[in-house]
Amino acid sequence: MRDGCPNCENVLQLRGNNDAIQECTSQVFEGLISVRDPAASWVARWQRLDNYVAGTYATKVTGSLPEYIISSLEDSGVKYVPYIDIFRAD
Ligand SMILES: [Zn+2]
Repeated sequence: MRDGCPNCENVLQLRGNNDAIQECTSQVFEGLISVRDPAASWVARWQRLDNYVAGTYATKVTGSLPEYIISSLEDSGVKYVPYIDIFRAD
């Protein structure tokens, strides 16, 4: 809320924007990975975190971004990759 997100602040501009934070974050997640040196970590690469800052990340997040946010991400050159559950039947 106070500092925004060090990975995507330039795109999502969450800092101080409670509405955007509510729309772009989720409290429902599974698993945590702590990454100290993302550029050198194969786990970070496997989780597509290798260009992110060091920190603690969820391995799976449940939720969806609003369409207009996804469009603005794509306009900014960010490829949004939603989690796809490989065990889901449909
Ligand atoms: Zn972010």
